[in-house]
Amino acid sequence: MKAHDGMYIGGEWRAAAGTDTIAVVDPADEQVIAHVPAGIAEDVDAAVFAAHEAFPAWAATPPAERAARIAALRDVLVARKDEIAETVTAELGAPLQFSQMVHAGVPILVAGSYAELAASYAFEEKVGNSTVYAEPVGVVGAITPWNYPLHQIVAKVAPALAAGCTVVLKPAEDTPLTAQLFAEAVHEAGIPAGVFNLVTGLGTVAGQALAAHPGVDLVSFTGSTAVGKQIGATAGAAVKRVALELGGKSANVILPSADLAKAVGVGIANVMGNSGQTCSAWTRMLVHTSQYDEAVALAAEAAAKYGDRIGPLVNAKQHARVRGYIEKGVAEGARLVAGGPEAPREQGYFVSPTVFADVTPEMTIAQEEIFGPVVSIIRYEDEDEALRIANGTVYGLAGAVWAADDAEAVAFARRMDTGQVDINGGRFNPLAPFGGYKQSGVGRELGAHGLSEYLQTKSLQF
Ligand code: NAD
Repeated sequence: MKAHDGMYIGGEWRAAAGTDTIAVVDPADEQVIAHVPAGIAEDVDAAVFAAHEAFPAWAATPPAERAARIAALRDVLVARKDEIAETVTAELGAPLQFSQMVHAGVPILVAGSYAELAASYAFEEKVGNSTVYAEPVGVVGAITPWNYPLHQIVAKVAPALAAGCTVVLKPAEDTPLTAQLFAEAVHEAGIPAGVFNLVTGLGTVAGQALAAHPGVDLVSFTGSTAVGKQIGATAGAAVKRVALELGGKSANVILPSADLAKAVGVGIANVMGNSGQTCSAWTRMLVHTSQYDEAVALAAEAAAKYGDRIGPLVNAKQHARVRGYIEKGVAEGARLVAGGPEAPREQGYFVSPTVFADVTPEMTIAQEEIFGPVVSIIRYEDEDEALRIANGTVYGLAGAVWAADDAEAVAFARRMDTGQVDINGGRFNPLAPFGGYKQSGVGRELGAHGLSEYLQTKSLQF
């Protein structure tokens, strides 16, 4: 596949400071498809310097003009949609149709939403005898994971640019080609030199250098809770703004009045999409004891129907990790009703859609984030117990509630310690704030709430 052998810094592709490279592997056949440079501290320095130089002019650019550039970026993403989908499929492994609809489609929606928000957001308000200005925070260090490679980039870069910030991006090592395509799109959209910069590389080298860089004013990180804690500590020590979008272990709560077949079917589809590599996936299905056996049968049937249609996991490490969790579930006494730890194909990092019944809330598979196509069905006796189970992990990113009417589901959802809940299969809303309670993170992405993360206020009294 096409790859750049340099970094996108100051509006051009520049030679990398070091000589090491990262191999990009197609997880469907385990073949190396490209190499990208492994950035080091010098690359990060150069990128932060470029972002710093570009900041005053971009911050002073009228919001309508920033909006026009973001709209142009959206248009380039639309024009290159097929190429984006093919690239995500090659390096992440998602089936092409899913890549087209979700991996290319959602970032286009989000970029469009920020083109509109940049133009309409109230960057100035009157409060009594004061005028309050919302001003950009400065240089943003954005660190993204591989599971929604373009969405996570756009969900940071578009609001940062809308706010008037400049950005240095360090994308995940597994999916750098999508990030390089994004840099090309930024260039084509006529976004001024230095406003967006890309450094590919390892998390422990380039990522760490970016998170700790004194020239970075805000670190926005999406990834594992373990790395998020480290980044939060580094940012805290420097009194630097930080946004953390971390892991999840979300509950799909099916109340007894719900349409069981629909709730189970949508719940299984929610986890199997992207092969379970979705931080907000509803990996714990909570079912009332009176409907438990029926739900288990429906879930097993729905998972079996997925069969071969899900893509592989992203890499060998995830493949071993997810299969290890499945083995652990069996060892701890959960009952496999679909899938299992055996690899369904000889080549590629595939795992069968897997469903466990008789899962108890304290089991490892009900507590830890597996990040694979694995659903745990947990029994509850009454609503209070369902709530205790739903809230009984360190995470609080997302969830779902199903009931005969929305009001009943809403009453339950309001008691959940989690940042986003879908009521009776509610649709994705690119303007709704997304982010975690508890150890799922700090801060929000998307919509006006996501934009405000990149702003700081100044009040003038009259
Ligand atoms: P990860 O934390 O290993 O890596 C994420 C990013 O951080 C990568 O770019 C990586 O190179 C970088 N990184 C790694 N170590 C670093 C360090 N010491 N300093 C600075 N940067 C470093 O996570 P992952 O395995 O790539 O992604 C999976 C995780 O991401 C899952 O736990 C998932 O739940 C989470 N996630 C959360 C959200 C959300 O919005 N809450 C969205 C997607 C993924």
